[in-house]
Amino acid sequence: MTTFGEDLQMSDDKTRRPSRQEVPRGLAKVSNIIAVASGKGGVGKSTVSTNFAMALLKTGAKVGLLDADIYGPSQPAMLGAVGKRPEMRGDYLIPMERHGLKFMSLGLLMTDDQPVIWRGPMASKMIQQFLGNVLWDDLDYLIIDLPPGSGDVQITLAQQAQLTGAVIVTTPQQVALGVAKKGLQMFETVNVPIVGVIENMSGFTCPKCGENTPIFKSGGGEKLAADFKVDFLGSIPLDPELMACGDDGTPLLVKTTDSSSAKAFIHLAKTFKEKVAKGALLGKNEARNMEMANGNLEVEWPEGTKNEFTPYNLRINCGCALCISEDTGQRILDPKQVPLDIKIGAFERVGRYAVTMSFSDGHNTGIYKFDMLRELAKKQKDSSRESFSV
Ligand code: ADP
Repeated sequence: MTTFGEDLQMSDDKTRRPSRQEVPRGLAKVSNIIAVASGKGGVGKSTVSTNFAMALLKTGAKVGLLDADIYGPSQPAMLGAVGKRPEMRGDYLIPMERHGLKFMSLGLLMTDDQPVIWRGPMASKMIQQFLGNVLWDDLDYLIIDLPPGSGDVQITLAQQAQLTGAVIVTTPQQVALGVAKKGLQMFETVNVPIVGVIENMSGFTCPKCGENTPIFKSGGGEKLAADFKVDFLGSIPLDPELMACGDDGTPLLVKTTDSSSAKAFIHLAKTFKEKVAKGALLGKNEARNMEMANGNLEVEWPEGTKNEFTPYNLRINCGCALCISEDTGQRILDPKQVPLDIKIGAFERVGRYAVTMSFSDGHNTGIYKFDMLRELAKKQKDSSRESFSV
């Protein structure tokens, strides 16, 4: 395995995502970072990622594809780049270009006979380094082909990449659907917005008569999207040509834009672009907006409701190691020591999941997770009811 790049610090906190300033330099010129994920392997996630990226390219967008499937990187084969080595500039890997698509794959850094043995923290660390050390040019969309599953590696990526959103690929079969749910839940946990669900291998379209036969059950993807109240982006039929194109290193969309599956990908790309352009992608508990109002921190939530938090209430609820004992979980900070007229100096969003702030008493080490602020808002409401009823 080629080693490259600077040593990035791993965080133990699973819900910690980097702030804007921490976005890896290589990703600084990328407007939208979209992960393509699936609960399990073999549902066609890589095939969909490649052709979806090509379809976006056909609609005039600047697109990159990052194959982060650490356990089975298949993009070099699908894009006809097996055995090629990427160029390096200093610490950075320079993406290759195939059929107009900029791409980088872990597979380009491995040798054919090298078993993929990274596990757990090693895999997370490896993928984090990889993500931070590819130097992308101006891109409208960077599509990341994630490894299947919903474990540490996927969580690391979701946290580190500042994802705009995630697309979930599933097949209509029940087994695949069950695990696709886990993938969806994982993104919700780390507040990554779900752009939508794609159903792959959705029936077989006869190349002669054009009739679609649902070989597996159909409508599963739509049901999954409805259950999670996310959008259904579209379905891709089972298509022998799609498979053949993947095998010979030229994506279907390079060969034709006319077949039923090629049209399905173009339709998918257009639906996706409209959805992302609306700019309404927010995580379930992600603040839509934050501002100071009458000295308080006002947070607006995705559904449009707002909560105000006084500096005093925020300060005494700080969960940092200076205020809460890491050993016992007991509060060390004595609320009586906090001046009632304490003020917030400045605040800053931390990734998509939290806010940090500095107080007039000099304290600035607390990270307030949005989930925790939601809870605090509920308590504020309850205590104001209590004081009203007294
Ligand atoms: P994953 O990335 O989920 O493991 P792949 O994209 O590698 O899955 O696809 C697994 C196999 O299924 C490949 O041989 C691929 O060509 C084939 N495949 C994927 N989607 C389709 C489809 N819609 N029609 C026909 N074959 C497909």
